[in-house]
Amino acid sequence: MTSSSSDATETALGLKRRARRIGRVLTETHPDAHCELDHSNALELAVATILSAQSTDKKINEVTPTLFARYRTAADYAGADRTELETLIRPTGFFRNKTDSLIKLGRALVERYDGRVPAKLADLVTLPGIGRKTANVILGNAFDVPGITVDTHFQRLVHRWRLTAETDPVKIEHAVGALYEKRDWTMLSHRVIFHGRRVCHARKPACGACTLAKLCPSYGTGPTDPALAAKLLKGPRARDLAVAAGVDPELVPAQAVAAEVP
Ligand code: SF4
Repeated sequence: MTSSSSDATETALGLKRRARRIGRVLTETHPDAHCELDHSNALELAVATILSAQSTDKKINEVTPTLFARYRTAADYAGADRTELETLIRPTGFFRNKTDSLIKLGRALVERYDGRVPAKLADLVTLPGIGRKTANVILGNAFDVPGITVDTHFQRLVHRWRLTAETDPVKIEHAVGALYEKRDWTMLSHRVIFHGRRVCHARKPACGACTLAKLCPSYGTGPTDPALAAKLLKGPRARDLAVAAGVDPELVPAQAVAAEVP
């Protein structure tokens, strides 16, 4: 077996080493990785993550400045005028359900946590609108408690890398968490998600312009020709991503650089 592939013979140690290498390459590839939902405290992040369901982070970031200026505390959400709140968050979709969640979240925080967002997973997951994925986002980014965020990108990529065959998000979280240092979990999650949004897309991954080509058993799922792959890179750093993968940045068209990251 070469280090470029993973198969049934890969040992547990081999898997861990390859996983760590993938982690290091991702660190170099995405130095700008961060939580893409704008926020300045735990409440804002909780609200933004609730709004982000079935929407894009870009859309949420357009809506939240006005929202956060108007609603500053859990009590503000608890006592919100439903129609006003619905109007503010309407562009994010499913605004009636989300309004419901935000008002209930505000009430639960006021009634049970003195208006503050708790810093424990077990408490967070009892709050309306907050599942385990959202709780981990909040822990990692607002409280510096390491957490792995298993969203759709994370699931797809760890499967492509064959870091785990688990399909249940909680099992994926534990299986992948065991391969990395706990202190790296939050940033690893951001980097994996960055890679999923910019390079390793669901339908056409940019394999020929991917820094992980040598470590990825799914190399070839998307085009391997650099000229074709370079067109699939996305976002303002698309040309840097090409350079990092050893691909001529001139092959990256302007549309790729201007493309909205999903
Ligand atoms: S080589 Fe292809 S499948 Fe593997 S991580 Fe890169 S883009 Fe994704």
